[in-house]
Amino acid sequence: MKKAEKKAENNLMEKVVSLCKRRGFVFQGSEIYGGMAGSFDYGPLGVTLKNNIKNLWWKMFVENRTDVYGVDAALLMNSKVWEASGHVSGFSDPLVECKKCKRRFRADHLEDKKKCPECEGELGAERQFNMMFKTHVGATEDDTSVSYLRPETAQGIFVNFKNVLDSLHPKLPFGIAQIGKAFRNEIAPRDFVFRTREFEQMEIEYFFHKKDWEEQFEYWRKQMHEWLKLIGLAGGNVSELEVAPADRAHYSKRTIDFEYEFPFGKKELYGLAYRTDFDLSKHSSESDADLSYFEEETKTRFTPHVIEPSFGVDRTFLAVLCEAYTEDELGGESRTYLKFPLNIAPVKIAVFPLLKNKPELVEKARTIFAELKATFGAVVFDDNGNIGKRYRRQDEIGTPYCVTIDFDTLEDNTVTIRNRNTGEQERVRVSEIAKKII
Ligand code: ATP
Repeated sequence: MKKAEKKAENNLMEKVVSLCKRRGFVFQGSEIYGGMAGSFDYGPLGVTLKNNIKNLWWKMFVENRTDVYGVDAALLMNSKVWEASGHVSGFSDPLVECKKCKRRFRADHLEDKKKCPECEGELGAERQFNMMFKTHVGATEDDTSVSYLRPETAQGIFVNFKNVLDSLHPKLPFGIAQIGKAFRNEIAPRDFVFRTREFEQMEIEYFFHKKDWEEQFEYWRKQMHEWLKLIGLAGGNVSELEVAPADRAHYSKRTIDFEYEFPFGKKELYGLAYRTDFDLSKHSSESDADLSYFEEETKTRFTPHVIEPSFGVDRTFLAVLCEAYTEDELGGESRTYLKFPLNIAPVKIAVFPLLKNKPELVEKARTIFAELKATFGAVVFDDNGNIGKRYRRQDEIGTPYCVTIDFDTLEDNTVTIRNRNTGEQERVRVSEIAKKII
C-alpha cells in the first residue's frame, strides 16, 4: 500500500475512534484512572448498536429456525473442560520480548523477528504464552481451586450437548448457539475493539453425521454471507481466506476465515471451522459421559461431527462502523454520517418540533414522538438548535430518518420526513410514517 493511502486509512480509523468517543459509542475502559490496555466500555449508543447486532443474529440463527437451540452457559467452568479441550496445554501465542525496552510482541505479527519494532533493540527468544486468564474459585488458592475465564463460548456448548439432547430430543442435524463473553490475555491488544482482552462471541456448533461435512460446510459458508448482507457488509470489503493446514487450530480439518478490509489492514472478522468430532469425543473420554447420538432410522450410534461458524461481536461492531462511515457534501456543506442499515441503527427516528418556543408545535411533536416510540422503540426527541444542526447531529450517529413537525402539521396532520443518505425530504401524513419507514 502506498504511504499516502495508508495515511488516509489510518486517518479513517482516527475519525471512527474519535466519533465513537464524542457521540457515546465507545469509551476507553477505566478512563478516569488512565485507562487499561485492551479494555473498552460501550456507551449508550454503542451498547444499543451491539445489542441490535446480537438480537438480529439470534433472530436469524435461532428464532427463525427450527433446528438451532440457544444456551447461555457459565463463564467459569470446571478446569477439566479446558484440559480436555486442549486449551490448558495448547492455547498459546508465540511471544517475544525486547531486551532493551522490555515491550512484548506476538512473534507471528512481526515482519522482522530479531529487531524490536518500537526501539530497534534486540528481541529475545520466542516462547509460548498461554492466553487463558487463570483464577481461583472459592476461599482456597491452590491447584484444586484453579479455574479459567473462558477463552471461547464454544466449550459451553459442547458440555451441554447431552443436556440439550436429553431435554429437547432434537434429531440430527441440529445446532446449539450461544452469545457471550470470552477472555483472552492477548499479548498485544490493539486496533481499538478489534483485539481486546475481553470480547463477545456469537457461535453455533452445528452437529451432523460425518458423511455430510462438505455439504454442511458449504451451507454454513452461504449462511455467513447471508448474515453479511443483513448487516450491510456485503459490499466487497469481506473476502474469504482458506486457512492452510499448518495454520489451522489443532481440532480443525478445514477452516475459512472471513476477512474484512479494516483501515489498519485486511484482518479476520469471522471463522468457519470443521471441528470434526474432536470436542465431543475428547469430552466423552475425559468425563466418561456418553456424548454419542442414536439414530433411530439406521439404528446406529455415533459421535456427531460439528461445523462452527464463529462471529466476533466487537469486530462486527467495528466493521459495521468503518463500512458506514461516510463524508460527503449536502446542500453545499460538508457532513459526516453513518450509513447504518435500518435494522442495526441505534436510533431509527428523530422527532423535531420546528421551533422549541411554540408550545403547540412542541405538544404535537411530543404526541407524535410518543406514538413512534411505541412502535419503533429507538426514537429520540430533539429541539436543540436549528434544524440544520439537528440533522447533522443525527447524521453523525446514523439515524436513518428525521421527522419535523411544523405549522402545517397542526392544520393537516402531515410531517416532513428527511432521508439520512440522500437528504431528500418528503411530506407525508402522520398515519403513514411507519409505512414509509419500514
Ligand atoms: P486472531 O487470529 O485475530 O487472534 P483467532 O483466529 O484467534 O483470531 P478465533 O479463535 O477464531 O479467533 O475466534 C473467533 C472469533 O472471535 C474471531 O473471528 C473474532 O471475531 C473474535 N475474536 C477472537 N479474538 C478476539 C479478540 N482478542 N478481540 C476481539 N474479538 C476477538
